[in-house]
Amino acid sequence: MIARDKLYIDGGWVRPQSSTATIPVISPYTEEQIGSVPAGGFDDVDAAVMAARRAQPSWAATSPAARTALLRAVASAIRSRSDEVVALVVDEVGTPVTLARVMQCGIVAHTFDNAADEMDALDPEEQLGNSRVRREAVGVVGCITPWNFPLYQLALKVAPALAAGCTVVAKPSELAGLSPFLLADIIDAAGFPPGVFNLVSGDGATVGEAIARHPGIDMVSFTGSDRAGARVAELAAQSVKRVALELGGKSAQIVLEDADLKRAVPYGVASAFNNAGQMCAALSRMVVRESILADVEQLAVAAAATFTMGDPHLETTKLGPLISAAQRERVRALVRTGTEDGAALLTGGADVPPDQPRGFFATPTVFSRAAPTIRIAQQEIFGPVLTIIPVADDEEAVSVANGTPYGLSGAVWSADSERAERIGARMDASTVYINGGAFNPAAPFGGTKRSGYGRERGRFGIEEFQRLKAFQY
Ligand code: NAD
Repeated sequence: MIARDKLYIDGGWVRPQSSTATIPVISPYTEEQIGSVPAGGFDDVDAAVMAARRAQPSWAATSPAARTALLRAVASAIRSRSDEVVALVVDEVGTPVTLARVMQCGIVAHTFDNAADEMDALDPEEQLGNSRVRREAVGVVGCITPWNFPLYQLALKVAPALAAGCTVVAKPSELAGLSPFLLADIIDAAGFPPGVFNLVSGDGATVGEAIARHPGIDMVSFTGSDRAGARVAELAAQSVKRVALELGGKSAQIVLEDADLKRAVPYGVASAFNNAGQMCAALSRMVVRESILADVEQLAVAAAATFTMGDPHLETTKLGPLISAAQRERVRALVRTGTEDGAALLTGGADVPPDQPRGFFATPTVFSRAAPTIRIAQQEIFGPVLTIIPVADDEEAVSVANGTPYGLSGAVWSADSERAERIGARMDASTVYINGGAFNPAAPFGGTKRSGYGRERGRFGIEEFQRLKAFQY
């Protein structure tokens, strides 16, 4: 049991001011409690905001090189404590260990290094005629993050915000609340000035809303559901804060008739099933030309069968449990609607996998011949469920891909990469993978439509936390 009973405020660990309540952290694999974090309150947010405000002017005035040196120290500490980081995230999220090493730890360290590199390379001033345009830090930033990649989502905000000269009040998800405390330990040991980074755990309705409302916060950067994101934007508007929202998705992979199916289909299945489908950018819909549908279905079932389910601590496991019992029930209910709405169930289904007596496992599921308007083709499921939708031509492929309220990522496969790019250009998505293009952490990432606004990663992630000032001469 890891019982964290203090919050990180003003450079030290302090007890919550008005309550001793704690939030249990449950392992989704053992279904047992593995720890707890404090349930912070408004007073704690207020203390953290005051500390961040006091610290912000001198932190912004610190040379960028001094700031980025501290970020590099965080990156190297994450690397040297990587076994501990990975073990904790595997326990609290259930991500299979092989994926966790990369997506829950390696990339977190890289994000701190990358923010340092990008900040070092950014020119803070630009001459435009008789104006000198300067980039300044936005001020105090509230960072509210989800549980699916608890450290990566936090790093994507905290690292560029600190690099830019902002100070931070972070509120991680209560569902995977322990690993952010480990990150706070690392930040504490790195020697940042007091108040530059603050961590207040708690639930969304209390701590999250207190951050969104607080007049001492200049900007809120939020990642999570569109429901909570809309609420954050509504509250933040009352004090005219800047807001960045990274929300849900229902992303599509378009597979054209001339695509390399042996690569395209396993790629799409992996994107839909990685982290048990709990990825905002998962390509959870496969939009396929009718002429190749039968081949795609066969390959998709074969690819799904390679997702060995089980103990996330084992090197051989590819599919772990979902985060909670509630999430599993939500996924199962949506899977039931797939059959009700007339889609063909190729593999999986709503039954709990019989060979997993414990853990919040959902069966990896592939539907095909789905109408684009049915629930499994429209709603974000956040579970290992792929929906294959047949289309007659390229026009219909684009219209189906864009026919949801979301717009996060996308993919196109074709032997003709110019044709793929023409289609990608018409997709409502900020990232379009052409023929299995690799992930690039320096490229901007974010949403359109109900997937939100704002961009993270690389230099774009730093610019998000900067405001512009023009000196006229
Ligand atoms: P969630 O919205 O329930 O919670 C996210 C965070 O917001 C948590 O810290 C939570 O405590 C807080 N929160 C909840 N209600 C709040 C409120 N009223 N005011 C302020 N804060 C509040 O989402 P989740 O279940 O943790 O995460 C899953 C969702 O996150 C999915 O929709 C997924 O697509 C999305 N997500 C998006 C991205 C992206 O980059 N676009 C990345 C990961 C996850």
